[in-house]
Amino acid sequence: MSVSPNAHPHLLQPLDLGFTTLRNRVMMGSMHTGLEDRFYNYAKLAAYFRERVRGGVGLVVTGGISPNRQGWLLPFGGTLNSIFDVYNHRKVTRAVHEEGGKILMQILHSGRYGYQPFVVSASSIKSPISMFKPKALTVSGIESTIKAYLRCAKLAQKAGYDGVEIMGSEGYLLNQFLCTRSNKRTDAYGGSIENRMRLPVEIVRQVRAAVGSNFILMYRHSVLDLVEGGNSWEEVVQVAQALEAAGVTLFNTGFGWHEARTPTIVTSVPRAAFASVAARLKQAVTVPVIASNRINMPDEAETLIASGSVDMVSMARPFLADSEWVNKVAAGRVDEINTCIGCNQACLDHTFANQRASCLVNPRAGHETELLYRKAQRQKKVAVVGAGPAGLSAATVAAECGHDVTLFDSSDRIGGQFNIAMQVPGKEEFAQTLRYFSKRLKVTGVRVQLGHRVTREQLLAQGFDVIVLATGIVPRTPRIPGVQRANVVTYADVLQRKVVPGSRVAIIGAGGIGFDVGEFLLHDPAVALPVSIDHWCREWGVDLQAQANGGLISPESVKPYRQLYLLQRKSTRVGAGLGKTSGWVHRAVLQRNGVQMFSGVEYQRIDDIGLHITVNGEARVLEVDHVVLCAGQESLIELMPPAGVPSELGAPRFYTIGGAALASELDAKRAIREGAVLAASL
Ligand code: FAD
Ligand code: NAP
Ligand code: SF4
Repeated sequence: MSVSPNAHPHLLQPLDLGFTTLRNRVMMGSMHTGLEDRFYNYAKLAAYFRERVRGGVGLVVTGGISPNRQGWLLPFGGTLNSIFDVYNHRKVTRAVHEEGGKILMQILHSGRYGYQPFVVSASSIKSPISMFKPKALTVSGIESTIKAYLRCAKLAQKAGYDGVEIMGSEGYLLNQFLCTRSNKRTDAYGGSIENRMRLPVEIVRQVRAAVGSNFILMYRHSVLDLVEGGNSWEEVVQVAQALEAAGVTLFNTGFGWHEARTPTIVTSVPRAAFASVAARLKQAVTVPVIASNRINMPDEAETLIASGSVDMVSMARPFLADSEWVNKVAAGRVDEINTCIGCNQACLDHTFANQRASCLVNPRAGHETELLYRKAQRQKKVAVVGAGPAGLSAATVAAECGHDVTLFDSSDRIGGQFNIAMQVPGKEEFAQTLRYFSKRLKVTGVRVQLGHRVTREQLLAQGFDVIVLATGIVPRTPRIPGVQRANVVTYADVLQRKVVPGSRVAIIGAGGIGFDVGEFLLHDPAVALPVSIDHWCREWGVDLQAQANGGLISPESVKPYRQLYLLQRKSTRVGAGLGKTSGWVHRAVLQRNGVQMFSGVEYQRIDDIGLHITVNGEARVLEVDHVVLCAGQESLIELMPPAGVPSELGAPRFYTIGGAALASELDAKRAIREGAVLAASL
């Protein structure tokens, strides 16, 4: 898939903002990494940005920095409200400027989304996803908030930022003022749209006056709220025009409040799904407009710029996945891009768990000063057995560090379980990770031997210094009478299409794979994958024409493709263990399709009638055609030397990683990270 260097010319064109020029049309959008919250992490934050700017990105935006304590997302979250904070921020701006880039600081006041007791909003209405009920800001509170924004922007200028992004979307404070959903005020800041937009417009006007004209003032505008009580398109445009008149240099676009029940960034959202709405905004204003959300590869980005739909694209997570994204595009090495697969597992899910953000496909993200792929002092002869995510990561990092690496897999292709995962509707992006690794194996010079199940003897005969066992797992077969019957099959059989289950199916095990199998079995094979933007909008009730307030319409009614039962023994809510920011999407899909979910299940037997269970002690029979086992996995470590056998002098060292090391709680995030960490330490 290598492409010529000039295949994306529009994307790489500079953007002239009048008083300053951005070197290309690619922006790294704001992401909370967790590093910005603690002063002692600013050197790490600087290294994180430095790598991305060195990788060619035209403009970067920091994670949200609060203008005052009330605006904290979390207790003691990143704040810029005193001259003492400027020193830390300078580490970041200096690093970016040394690499020839430009950086904006995002000013984010969380409003009622703050996870802390000082929260304020337009009105005292708790959000459905928050713990704390906000206090309604008084008029003098609003005036102090404007002053806080002003102080924050001036300090950002002092710290060397090229501008600020004022966060006005995703349901944060300014968005809360803009919409009647959260603004029930009867004073000069509530009621008509002129009143509801008074606070953001005044902030922009006063900030512009304070920072002068040669400072970028970007506003992230909520162009599709995707919640009840969201703004109409006319209001969105009216606000944008008022903000432009107040001094905005360019608009970034935002889609959906955090409390919206419409996914906007998970992997099942089609690529560039919302770009057409950003294009509509561009028709209504004269300053440049930036498209965002689920843009992860250069072809879609180039089309958006080349067609004149928007002026720039914002990508956030794709720069966690690959800091070199822009340089690779410029050099025509698109097939070397490590693509963000939209899983949220190491970025947003970490943020919501108050952990440092990283990336499933790139464990160095956020750890630039800690996980280093340095040249090894002595080259070792390394065997990696298993070309799943763990083995691919270990082999490519070991080779990058200068080792002589051979990678074995019994299958005739690389990828391990990712080959199965990418069959799940909405997980098509997982194929990109295998495309990346396939190329990376070549670039780093790993010898690859496929289609051969190696034995310990064969490995020992080849004189390896190090043998890394990344042999993964085998699916668990639970002990249930009747489990050997022909109509009891594994998830792998189903997803690899070795078996086509009947119209009534029971799924044993409601972990990530149980849910994935559910989505696979509910998918009508007549609908091509990945689903089109139109199809997805009908399914989720999204009106990209924005004729309905907030862009919300009724979802299309669903005729389930199969009758499914999803079962688990635990008494917790089914799906409780899924990812924080993606699990609700999987649950919603299954619920919409009438899947019956049971927890507190005991499996009795499987016979001609179906699956006999008790649910919280009450007997039930599920009359099903097939039972699919998604009951977890067990490590495959047959190649490990038996415990207690003394290793001979000079014998190879064995290591296990990924599923081979520990099957429970295994995911690709751990597998890839373990592979990289081990390889970097050899
Ligand atoms: P595997 O991927 O199992 O790879 C092991 C490899 O070793 C295989 O290719 C096998 O052929 C090879 N092998 C075994 N023995 C030998 C031998 N003796 N000789 C040569 N080769 C051998 N994880 C996530 O993080 N997010 C998800 O959304 C996600 N979705 C999933 C959906 C599905 C349907 C499935 C099945 C899995 C999903 N996973 C997901 C889990 C993820 O795929 C696994 O955690 C990951 O693949 C484990 O990596 P691994 O390298 O340890 O093992
Ligand atoms: P899992 O999440 O551990 O789920 C295993 C399921 O099997 C559980 O529901 C468990 O529930 C059940 N189970 C375990 N032992 C059983 C037994 N002896 N008999 C009957 N049921 C049993 O594992 P998984 O679904 O196999 O997924 C593997 C890994 O891939 C997971 O770590 C997951 O994170 C990852 N993955 C992630 C995603 C994602 O979207 N993020 C998607 C797919 C997979 P009970 O014990 O309560 O019955
Ligand atoms: Fe993208 Fe997943 Fe990495 Fe987040 S963790 S940046 S969603 S690949």
